[in-house]
Amino acid sequence: MDTSDATTATGSNGEKRISVLLPLPLAGAYDYRADGDFAVQTGDFVAVPLGSREVVGVVWGDATGDVDDAKIKPVAARLDAPPLPDALRKFIDWVAAYSLSPPGAVLRMTMNVRGALESPKPVRSFVAADVPPDLRLTPARKRVLDILTGGPPRTMPDLAREAGVGASVIKGLVTAGAITARNLPPGPTFITPDPDHPGVQLSAEQLDAAAALRRQVDTETFAVTLLDGVTGSGKTEVYFEAIAAALRLGRQALVLLPEIALTPQWFDRFARRFGTEPVVWHSDLSQSRRRLAWRAVATGEARVVVGARSALFLPFDELGLLIVDEEHESAYKQADGVSYHARDMAIVRAQLAGFPVVLASATPSLETRVNVSRGRYGRQELPERFGAATLPTIEAVDMRESGLRVDQFLAPVLRDALTETIGDGEQALLFLNRRGYAPLTLCRTCGHRFECPSCSAWLVEHRFRRQLQCHHCGYTAPVPDACPHCDTTGSLAVCGPGVERIAEEVQAVVPSARIGVMTSDTMRGPDAAQEMVRAIEARELNLLIGTQMVAKGHHFPYLTLVGIVDADLGLSGGDLRASERTYQVLHQVAGRAGRAERPGRVIVQTHQPDHPVMQAMINGDREAFMQLEENNRAAGGWPPFGRLAAIIISSRDGAAADGIAAALARHAPAAPDVQVLGPAPAPLAMLRGQHRRRLLLKTALDRPLQPLLREWLRHVAVPARARVRVDIDPYNFL
Ligand code: ADP
Ligand code: ZN
Repeated sequence: MDTSDATTATGSNGEKRISVLLPLPLAGAYDYRADGDFAVQTGDFVAVPLGSREVVGVVWGDATGDVDDAKIKPVAARLDAPPLPDALRKFIDWVAAYSLSPPGAVLRMTMNVRGALESPKPVRSFVAADVPPDLRLTPARKRVLDILTGGPPRTMPDLAREAGVGASVIKGLVTAGAITARNLPPGPTFITPDPDHPGVQLSAEQLDAAAALRRQVDTETFAVTLLDGVTGSGKTEVYFEAIAAALRLGRQALVLLPEIALTPQWFDRFARRFGTEPVVWHSDLSQSRRRLAWRAVATGEARVVVGARSALFLPFDELGLLIVDEEHESAYKQADGVSYHARDMAIVRAQLAGFPVVLASATPSLETRVNVSRGRYGRQELPERFGAATLPTIEAVDMRESGLRVDQFLAPVLRDALTETIGDGEQALLFLNRRGYAPLTLCRTCGHRFECPSCSAWLVEHRFRRQLQCHHCGYTAPVPDACPHCDTTGSLAVCGPGVERIAEEVQAVVPSARIGVMTSDTMRGPDAAQEMVRAIEARELNLLIGTQMVAKGHHFPYLTLVGIVDADLGLSGGDLRASERTYQVLHQVAGRAGRAERPGRVIVQTHQPDHPVMQAMINGDREAFMQLEENNRAAGGWPPFGRLAAIIISSRDGAAADGIAAALARHAPAAPDVQVLGPAPAPLAMLRGQHRRRLLLKTALDRPLQPLLREWLRHVAVPARARVRVDIDPYNFL
């Protein structure tokens, strides 16, 4: 690929030709003629004709040169936007080749922000005016005036958020003549974080780790370092120092967080360290916020971005540091569309551009652990919690001997501990990774089970909403009075608990519990999560019940008891990483207990107290557990000791899916170091009305999967009513 600035290809009559990659799932870039009255360079955003439309794409390099002179069309316009950096273009090509995706589909992940490529329009902003002498000055009004006096103009949403007031307060001030609205060209939207803003005083251990990361940043070369620290050891404070180093070098920094929107405390700490908030990037942002953030990254105005996995595709030109926090999180894997793992791709991006990566975790993934032991990654350790905090004590309760009725889910020890903790004015957390009230509803008379009409899954009852819901496709139905199968009324029974049912049980046991339920469906958007975090910090709530959403990042000093309602839940199913993942999430949840002076206690309810995951939890022996996992994976040649790709066939027509699966099986590659597993119905054999079959391709580590897959798939015709998807390094085995 050409990486020089100007492109040189010419057609037979001497005109300049270029190739333009369009953000569409096409096989490759298309050739165009660049002979307008504007110069174009590699990386420029250009508008080009495609059929009867005009599409915006990126100049990718020299023309491939096999288009007829008569057929080649001219570039229509060059857009007024910073060109796509070289390193990002290489990254896009790399991801496309690795994931077997059309490069345009990868480019689309960089360019999917509507309007970001247009010159910014004037925005309605507020500025201070002369305050009328008779103005009634409420505290809210004063906050607004203080912000605008001496500060830059603010838009309505920014002003309202910063001052903590509603729109009516701002409108009132306009009416009173104390502030004025103007249409202004959008000024700098983001304040530059200050690396020298006074932060917290680091401990000696933290200082050592921070210094090592800083040195890495200063070398401005590629390296990967694992920041391996127990929960509450201050990993965040430590990697902030690496960010400060990047800022001092004039480089941009990117922090990836799983479920970014949901950890408001992270933002407060960032602001405390750098004097301002970072630029945020995730899928819940409004279109206008996305546009501003994208543009600010491209122009270099945004110096530090914190984002979800998709932030990896933002057009940074001066990136000098990438941090992947909670690097073990499976939320980093995107399985739909272009499949990629953001941690792995972060490393690729850093390697292509030549800067360091920090992976932070209390429970590093096996992949990372192996890379450390092979000497490919460095490692910095923080073995202790910061300050007076100690690690919590962890005990298992054998649920086989709990003597509970079938409609009870909290063992007596856990009930007592909850009563005691809440009685002492402290807080407790109950973890159950299942939304709703109950995972299965059945008829006691005829045995009918409520199933999703388009997925092979039970419907989950949501009692607050009086609905049955499919957690895979979102289908809902009201809870009926009578069984739809046998017509008996009052015969429906629920089986098993979800968080709502646990809330009901706790309320009966501890009537003084003030409960907050935190799940992705009770927390609509970041504001709801923020409000709940505030209510817990203010101790308005003393009992938090939640799914894995509660596991992440939160730091509540009064939270001293953690109860894990069903520790076995993640262990079932044929998932390669089931044990590892269960250990990680349990460890993470346990890590919420006793993060300040008050010691923490963790109670783990399990039917398998002898399982290695439970043993590792109780004994606090991460190493022994991970070594066992490593041995198992190595023995089977599973990742990271082998390579894996999944092929998923889906069709509304079950026979068609079976036909393709059989054809794939017939043409399966054969070699001693290659193994094909399946075809088999996927565990979710039916999803959204699609029949699903899958095959797994497993190879030795030194044999790249992509050429094998390309060759294999070439032999099998896929009819229009079916789809075949490839997932390299699959994480989700559903
Ligand atoms: P981890 O990410 O390793 O779980 P955090 O970075 O969240 O740990 O730190 C845990 C808590 O301790 C946070 O509230 C953090 O602000 C606080 N903390 C960590 N290091 C320091 C320090 N040096 N000074 C003051 N507070 C600290
Ligand atoms: Zn469904």
